[in-house]
Amino acid sequence: MTRQIGHFIGGKKVEGLSGRFGDVFDPNTGEVQAKVALASKAEVEAVIANAEAAQVEWGNTNPQRRARVLMKFLELANKDMDNLARLLSNEHGKTIPDAKGDVQRGLEVVEFAIGIPHLMKGEYTEGAGPGIDVYSMRQPLGVVAGITPFNFPAMIPLWKAAPALACGNAFVLKPSERDPSCPMRIAELFLEAGLPPGVFNVVNGDKEAVDAILYDPRIKAVGFVGSSPIAQYIYETAAANNKRAQCFGGAKNHMIIMPDADMDQVVDALVGAGFGSAGERCMAISVAVPVGEATANALIEKLTPRVEALKVGLSNDSTADYGPMVTKEALARVKGYVDLGVQEGAKLVVDGRGFKMQGYENGYFIGGCLFDNVTPDMRIYKEEIFGPVLSVVRAKTYEEAAALPSTHEYGNGVAIFTRDGDTARDFTARVNVGMVGVNVPIPVPIAYYTFGGWKRSGFGDLNQHGTDSVRFYTKTKTVTSRWPSGTKEGAEFVIPTMS
Ligand code: NAD
Repeated sequence: MTRQIGHFIGGKKVEGLSGRFGDVFDPNTGEVQAKVALASKAEVEAVIANAEAAQVEWGNTNPQRRARVLMKFLELANKDMDNLARLLSNEHGKTIPDAKGDVQRGLEVVEFAIGIPHLMKGEYTEGAGPGIDVYSMRQPLGVVAGITPFNFPAMIPLWKAAPALACGNAFVLKPSERDPSCPMRIAELFLEAGLPPGVFNVVNGDKEAVDAILYDPRIKAVGFVGSSPIAQYIYETAAANNKRAQCFGGAKNHMIIMPDADMDQVVDALVGAGFGSAGERCMAISVAVPVGEATANALIEKLTPRVEALKVGLSNDSTADYGPMVTKEALARVKGYVDLGVQEGAKLVVDGRGFKMQGYENGYFIGGCLFDNVTPDMRIYKEEIFGPVLSVVRAKTYEEAAALPSTHEYGNGVAIFTRDGDTARDFTARVNVGMVGVNVPIPVPIAYYTFGGWKRSGFGDLNQHGTDSVRFYTKTKTVTSRWPSGTKEGAEFVIPTMS
């Protein structure tokens, strides 16, 4: 019988009651390996009620004790690393070493969140007026939710949950229905670490579950990561329902290659950042912009054999550069974009469409694809492909190259490769993109900085992790107090000022 994945509610695994299920595939074989329950509105409402009840005590627990639970979780998750990576890789298709990186980047935010008691401290002004002291405090919001994508099933749930929990909130996670097993295991580990039942819950589902979260007044904040149209929908619906929302969307990340760049370093960076995880990363480089004909020709000459030599493998093959795509639909979409690029007149230098994994012909594999002479009017340039497809757009000058990421509708990440400090400094100051790498191809900020794209890559005004996460998951209360209370000044009908 096919394995069934339910929900994690009130500290235990429970079966789905809606009678609706989604397929979880093995991307290596194309076979259904499990059925995931898709929650009904009533089930989501029950989870929220449970979380709301559990939050009261958790919110009143002192911050250091809350941090200790996260510390224990960190220890348990590190011990469970092989298992978490295997669960994740089996359903997502990324290789085991890459899956470990997914877990590790999530745990780095847990490490950050352990220090959150320090960031939750309020402000205090003694003697703001005669006998008057003013202070502020940060309090948890209550129940908050995370709605997360398939491509980082450990990292993104942890980026959301760890700061939210450290700040004293209860958390309802609605992970991607493509790869739910790793989030379910994370829930078990939180419980084992001492998190009270009901404080961290996983509800699996699709749009019905998401809408139940968005319209429920008990949910105070929603953190979303996924594609831009859904990010915009979640942002607008959450805001219309009086919730805080931070919603991160799609990307088209450029790498500008200056004539003085070290071309070997550039090519290493491009194959890793363009094709790692089959290009299914929001910070993948999907556009390379060499400046000048000579740079472009040198790039294509060195890059072509490297893309041809990429090793596509099973997700459990640790020697593979990348594994299968997540679903049949994802594979079809990527192949469709490669067909489109050819029709649009781009030069397909390396064509991975025909790749078949021997013995796994129904798996969702595709070889690396490289386009040259892509122009900004083409759809393969404008739209997110989210696969192992790299487009080279040739620019004549630095100004022309730098304008491309700045004017693109997405603004997640960007990189420049150069040996010239003036150029790098000018670029980082002027580029209209949220995260910038200088000779670093995937500039995902470390946990104590914040992560967030601009333009259609991010809706909302606070980023993920770092200090922004504490602002997002707490509300500020400001207290003005006067002691001794016996002072008699008579009634005051004019607004009090400092004059
Ligand atoms: P997706 O938008 O299809 O799904 C994300 C989440 O939204 C899932 O939990 C899904 O169940 C839910 N969802 C899907 N359709 C919905 C609908 N109509 N109504 C309500 N909820 C819905 O994204 P995905 O395919 O899982 O992930 C890939 C996308 O995520 C890419 O566009 C990628 O760039 C983006 N992404 C962005 C970042 C970032 O930080 N900016 C990070 C990772 C991934």
